[in-house]
Amino acid sequence: MNVILFGPPAAGKGTQAKLLVQTYGMIQLSTGDMLRAARASGSDLGNKVADIMDRGDLVSDEIVIALIEEQIEARGADQSYIFDGFPRTVAQAEALDALLDRHGSRIDAVIRLEVDEEKVMARIAKRFAEEGRADDNPESFKVRLDRYFADTAPLLPFYEGQGRLHRVDGMKSIEEVAAQINAVLGGLKG
Ligand code: ADP
Repeated sequence: MNVILFGPPAAGKGTQAKLLVQTYGMIQLSTGDMLRAARASGSDLGNKVADIMDRGDLVSDEIVIALIEEQIEARGADQSYIFDGFPRTVAQAEALDALLDRHGSRIDAVIRLEVDEEKVMARIAKRFAEEGRADDNPESFKVRLDRYFADTAPLLPFYEGQGRLHRVDGMKSIEEVAAQINAVLGGLKG
């Protein structure tokens, strides 16, 4: 079973992905985490994406698609994956479908975490104060939200049209959001 966790920056995708890993033994594929790891390792790729990430822009489709492809090829398509922070553009979504299709697999559900933008801004201001993540500064966060609305939100009609989109209320507590996600996944299996 493969699912996409979908939502604007700071909607809680990473938190919920980690719970799915614990509950179902799924594998979390977060392009944001992969890119941060590349930066931390000081690789050419990491250096190439550093400025783009810090200002809140999207790195190229080519780079993130290659990262995902590498993971699926290495781990095999018979695993259960949670895609977190990917796909973020229609081109990425199409590449993901094609990649899974080549391996006889597919996306079973796209779970949209619906959040209130203003409250999310407050969450991020708190995270910036506590963790100091460079791209959480107000200016970069604004760019991340703009990119979400311009490039990523168009994926909603794409998945909705295919009947793959499921909505959950992302403003509830972590436990309640997790329960809603579990209900969606339970419905798929049954
Ligand atoms: P968020 O906390 O906003 O969900 P992520 O941790 O997923 O952010 O990503 C951090 C940054 O990494 C993004 O702002 C972007 O620069 C880059 N990035 C991550 N995933 C992608 C992707 N699928 N396409 C393009 N850029 C990406």
